[in-house]
Amino acid sequence: MPLTLSSERTKHQPSIKLGRVLVVEDEGLISETIALALTDEGYEVIRAEDGRAALDLIHQLKELESNGSLGMALTLPHQLRGRSLDLIILDLMLPYINGLDLCRLIRREGITVPILMLSAKGSETDRVVGLEVGADDYLTKPFGIRELIARCRALLRRHHQFQVQPEQPSLKYQDIALYPQECRITVRGAAVNFSPKEFKILELFMSYPRRVWSREQLLERIWGPDFIGDSKTVDVHIRWLREKLEIDPSSPTYLVTVRGFGYRFG
Ligand code: CA
Repeated sequence: MPLTLSSERTKHQPSIKLGRVLVVEDEGLISETIALALTDEGYEVIRAEDGRAALDLIHQLKELESNGSLGMALTLPHQLRGRSLDLIILDLMLPYINGLDLCRLIRREGITVPILMLSAKGSETDRVVGLEVGADDYLTKPFGIRELIARCRALLRRHHQFQVQPEQPSLKYQDIALYPQECRITVRGAAVNFSPKEFKILELFMSYPRRVWSREQLLERIWGPDFIGDSKTVDVHIRWLREKLEIDPSSPTYLVTVRGFGYRFG
């Protein structure tokens, strides 16, 4: 499988990430090392092993961002949906489509995400060509991982400074409002604290009003396929959510039980 998620190290990390980074590199050890370092820094990392897989993924994320529909993005793992890329780390030598061509293609499509190019070659020509086809920075192998992290941080900082922040969308239902980018929820006008899991559950429910979710679906979407435990976990979290949302948690009107199926919102 040419596309992998570095989720093995993210389990103990906070669920709110500093940014989403795509690492395109066919050398497994280098890709793994970069992914682990970035994950430890608090970034979410997606890896692609070749140029074609990377381009497919970028197209799917772009599609998702531009029209919000799942359309062709249905083949994406669900963890990847709902957020675009913040940075691409791109190796020069790649199978199918090399780094320079990939960079050119990305820029030709009007995608402005910062690109850090990696190369085993250190010649000035490569560096110049890399920057000319639209890379933002260039790092020659072998490089120190601290330097890579520092460059990533600088690129992200610069990129965010020049980005016009779009108005932050929020999810509203009656007197409950959830602000995904601010990780903030207000209930009847007052800010209420939610744990990251509770936040994710409510965000999912509010994104699909009145849709019924089974306990198994919620476990899969919120806890992930590797979760070991039973569906009682879901019931416990629903109870906690009700205590924060409902006027009378014993007869809920927001998070409603659909007997024999699961739960729905609204
Ligand atoms: Ca390579």
